[in-house]
Amino acid sequence: KKRIVSGVQPTGSIHLGNYLGAIKNWIALQNSYETLFFIVDLHAITLPYDTQQLSKATRETAAIYLACGIDNSKASVFVQSHVRAHVELMWLLSSATPIGWLNKMIQFKEKSHKAGDENVGVALLTYPVLMASDILLYQSDFVPVGEDQKQHLELTRELAERVNYLYGGRKWKKLGGRGGAIFKVPEPLIPPAGARVMSLTDGLSKMSKSAPSDQSRINLLDPKDVIANKIKRCKTDSSAGLEFDNLARPECNNLLSIYQLISGKTKGEVAEECQNMNWGTFKPLLTDALIEHLHPIQVRYEEIMSDSAYLDKVLADGAAKAADIADATLNNVYQAMGFLRR
Ligand code: ATP
Ligand code: MG
Repeated sequence: KKRIVSGVQPTGSIHLGNYLGAIKNWIALQNSYETLFFIVDLHAITLPYDTQQLSKATRETAAIYLACGIDNSKASVFVQSHVRAHVELMWLLSSATPIGWLNKMIQFKEKSHKAGDENVGVALLTYPVLMASDILLYQSDFVPVGEDQKQHLELTRELAERVNYLYGGRKWKKLGGRGGAIFKVPEPLIPPAGARVMSLTDGLSKMSKSAPSDQSRINLLDPKDVIANKIKRCKTDSSAGLEFDNLARPECNNLLSIYQLISGKTKGEVAEECQNMNWGTFKPLLTDALIEHLHPIQVRYEEIMSDSAYLDKVLADGAAKAADIADATLNNVYQAMGFLRR
């Protein structure tokens, strides 16, 4: 089976964008691929954060994965920091990463600009090297990525090729290894269309955990009345009828797309169903669809959170399986780079 890895940061609450753009797609993948889904807690400390919240948010994110339908008998679910090889490989990889590659990363420029100099640690710059380590450790074939992560995946691919060139092949064989490529070069897996969910208050920016206003997103754990209120107050327009793909109506396109993905209908069905509607009829329809879809997830979430021994076991088993694969890769890298092994 081909292998897939992916993860979400335990910062803020998981929202509809994370769900429709990432987690929901993983559910289908776990049946046809060998999958590893982790909570990337080491990435969550690249900007100032609350130490009192990190472990809680990590557990909650894991519980959300399971509540959404990640099946731990098929997928390995674990916490990134529980598998030490992630950080270890990162150090080895950083020696092979030209600093110029990192300086070009758009996310670094954006996030460091927002945070201000005093708050920008070196880790925000080297973040893509840790992400490369997350992926390359598992010799992943595919990585599901949203628009926002494409550039980082490209860096991962270039880094894999560079390390293979610098240390792999015959050089590695001479050192007693098996030669050949050290890392598999992973391919991006583009999510199905419509999976870029936009903010409820601005149809031109993406729904985000870090956006200051909670009104801009539907969180997976929002209670019914909060969902209803957010949809009632979300930004719309005053054109007649509802339609997809009208560039002048980004909010309309976004709300119809959310309805389509949540209801499981096709785009054509939704276009026809909604073409003559006004917001007054559409909004309750969307609200009901959201509540109906999220309610069972929320019920399962509460069950999982109330059984901490179960959650601990899932994470321990997941970390053990992941560590087996990760340690094998790490060993190869140490050997290929010429380290004395004990
Ligand atoms: P932050 O604002 O802190 O960066 P985020 O909302 O972007 O948070 P991440 O943890 O960075 O969340 O991303 C987790 C996954 O969710 C990634 O695969 C990312 O591509 C996807 N994702 C994030 N936001 C959206 C969105 N609005 N629509 C679709 N996918 C999204
Ligand atoms: Mg993000």
